[in-house]
Amino acid sequence: MRKKVKILVLGSMLYDCVTWGDRLPRKGETVVGYRNGFFTGGKGANQAVQAARMGADVYMIGLVGKDAIGEILITALKKEGINTKHITVTDKSATGTCCIHVDKNGDNAIMTAPQANLDISVKSIDEALDDIQDYDIFLTQLEVNINTTVYAIRKIKERGKIIVFNPAPAHKIPLETFKYADYISLNQTETEFYSGVLPIDQKTCVDAAKKLKEIGMKNILITLGSEGVFYSDKTSSFILPAYKVLAVDATAAGDAFNAAFTTALGGGMGAEEALLYGNAAGAFAASKEGAQSSLGYYDDIENLKKSAIIDKIIY
Ligand code: ADP
Repeated sequence: MRKKVKILVLGSMLYDCVTWGDRLPRKGETVVGYRNGFFTGGKGANQAVQAARMGADVYMIGLVGKDAIGEILITALKKEGINTKHITVTDKSATGTCCIHVDKNGDNAIMTAPQANLDISVKSIDEALDDIQDYDIFLTQLEVNINTTVYAIRKIKERGKIIVFNPAPAHKIPLETFKYADYISLNQTETEFYSGVLPIDQKTCVDAAKKLKEIGMKNILITLGSEGVFYSDKTSSFILPAYKVLAVDATAAGDAFNAAFTTALGGGMGAEEALLYGNAAGAFAASKEGAQSSLGYYDDIENLKKSAIIDKIIY
């Protein structure tokens, strides 16, 4: 990076419990699986970890319950060097969890309980923003309390900071929120939700971007999985194809992409260069199993980025 970047992340913290077995249980049935795994996750925490592994100083705003799981999640972030001062512990709700069953074909059934994530208050945003002033760029999603997220975006815009907004999972929000964000990053499903157009090729990407601009989005990133990323701003639209990797598990690829893009942008790079970091971090995460466990460090991402020259396809 050109300079040491400081990133503020507001977002979710979840604890994932995964069970692998032959098949998914039917209603009322217990299936004996063959193995399990416990993982720290949540879009916000994943993005914070990716930014920290890229070398950023990361402040995280979050909320967990006063329970053992909450402690595990905070400890995991501390281990990454993330500043957790504004991760609050509440005794009013439990820490968010996600229970995932995976069958032998890789199909899954997931039930998540966001719990404390939905209770993050406007007051905690005000406290954090009064205390933390020296960040370069702000990154957030829609996996914690929506009203609080919308409030945070507005407040941070008032303070003149750069905002990268990943409106995921897709949710109806006041449209003015999009105007406050400098960069909006969406995957194909989210793009379809907000624009009504599923972006699968050149024409549909351009059509979707046009609709997204009509609802107030400025600089738009549409991540296209193994096809890379489509970018569109006032003056140009192009695709940067993905880095070629042997993909084994795309979990957290989007989180890796968004955090690496934000880190590079906050570190002084132009949008196009930052998109390449996003692509490399996303591809790296797709080449490894798991969520936070699949996220690369700066050298992994830099090496992958150097491994191929990616020519943009201009529209
Ligand atoms: P999400 O995980 O949010 O659905 P995507 O699947 O679009 O997001 O992935 C985000 C980014 O990760 C893509 O834009 C791309 O850069 C990278 N990526 C994802 N899957 C692959 C893959 N199979 N090969 C290479 N890069 C990938």
